[in-house]
Amino acid sequence: MEKTLFQKIADKEIPAQIVYEDELCVAFRDISPAAPVHVLLVPRKPIPNIAEAKAEDAELLAHLMFKVREIAQAEGIAESGFRTVLNTGSDGGQTVPHLHIHILGGRSMQWPPG
Ligand code: 5GP
Repeated sequence: MEKTLFQKIADKEIPAQIVYEDELCVAFRDISPAAPVHVLLVPRKPIPNIAEAKAEDAELLAHLMFKVREIAQAEGIAESGFRTVLNTGSDGGQTVPHLHIHILGGRSMQWPPG
């Protein structure tokens, strides 16, 4: 299986501004930021998206959610607030088929999203 774009970033084959990494996940700045803070948090395991996650991924997904909190704190947006987004599939606007959590902050967000 060919590596996904985000696996290549996690393996440092493609450069990115990595802000956090551990044995299970990597977080890096989005190449086209939609807010002053725009970080993508991805599992090293190439789960295509949340709809295709398996029961065995539950612990990994919990790990990611807890890391959202740490990354928001490190980025200085935990107190002001922030948005987390998981785009899934075609209608969800997903463009990279490797599960990723957008962490957006540093400005006021609108609702509903487009
Ligand atoms: P999606 O649309 O799949 O939810 O989000 C994919 C995100 O990946 C987009 O926000 C896009 O800007 C970002 N992205 C795409 N290619 C690259 C890349 O090569 N490097 C980085 N850092 N971000 C990327």
